[in-house]
Amino acid sequence: MRQSGTTLQHIAEYIGVSRQWVSRQLIKYYGSTQIQDLVTIREFARMVGHTRRYINKLWHRGIIRPVQVIGRGRTLWGPESAVAAISYLDSLRCPICDTPLPSERQTYCSRGCYLETHKYKNMPEQARSRHRRSVAQWLTRHPEQARQIEQRKQRKYQAKKSTRRYHDT
Ligand SMILES: [Zn+2]
Repeated sequence: MRQSGTTLQHIAEYIGVSRQWVSRQLIKYYGSTQIQDLVTIREFARMVGHTRRYINKLWHRGIIRPVQVIGRGRTLWGPESAVAAISYLDSLRCPICDTPLPSERQTYCSRGCYLETHKYKNMPEQARSRHRRSVAQWLTRHPEQARQIEQRKQRKYQAKKSTRRYHDT
């Protein structure tokens, strides 16, 4: 009622309590008796189209923040945070294929792109060199397998070469 502009006196008369009691309740639950454009995190999350957990994550990363924290983890959110959240979410792109993220996705646009990140060519350089070292170690410890792998590689290479020659002629 207060958010839609009703006076404290009118609210008090409507529920049959004192004006002071209404005022105390508003301060207790909303931190103020002023008319504000604030919503709870549940409403805010629904507006933005994400879970409460994700909204909290964005808050802890410093991308958005609530207008008020009213004890025991209860927060109130204003229109500026909604604008900030939406423009941030719209700017997110898949790190693999660079398309904008659909609203239900948080890092990669699809499962396909998520799986791509585990491929050698998409690993960060540090992970790649770590990978190369462990492969080299493994190969020295397993010379027989190393020989077989090398043979298979050669066969594959030869096959590729001969089909290319076939297409060229
Ligand atoms: Zn993608």
